[in-house]
Amino acid sequence: MSNAVPVLEGLFSWPNKKPALQVTHCRQCLVVAFPRVEYCPSCASSDVEFRQLESIGKLRNFTSVLMRPPEYKGEVPYGVGIVEFPEGICILGLLTVSDLGSLRPGMNMEVVVETVYKEDGNDIVSYKFHPSQEAGHA
Ligand SMILES: [Zn+2]
Repeated sequence: MSNAVPVLEGLFSWPNKKPALQVTHCRQCLVVAFPRVEYCPSCASSDVEFRQLESIGKLRNFTSVLMRPPEYKGEVPYGVGIVEFPEGICILGLLTVSDLGSLRPGMNMEVVVETVYKEDGNDIVSYKFHPSQEAGHA
């Protein structure tokens, strides 16, 4: 039986029924940053708070990666995309689908956690963007 291990601590809330990306929100200039940081990357203020992105985002750009990058341990091909969240941040991430024919810019996308690769008998998991069933929400 294998354990599930996050690829990096602090990227997403997990385990969780509904995983959410963990971001920094700047109280001074309202910039949202991902991954979380102690200081605002825009105005350098330390007056920041940690929040979770629990909303549905919209798919902006996406592509399929056919050749495995040197540092990537998962299967190819895989999809990557940029999802824009209503909190005012665009986040790059893996997609759950590698066949891009079913994807359209502007689609609603939700955050899920899935295995990316296996290592030492563990499932290494990360956040991915998945076409949302909650279509129709603005
Ligand atoms: Zn700021």
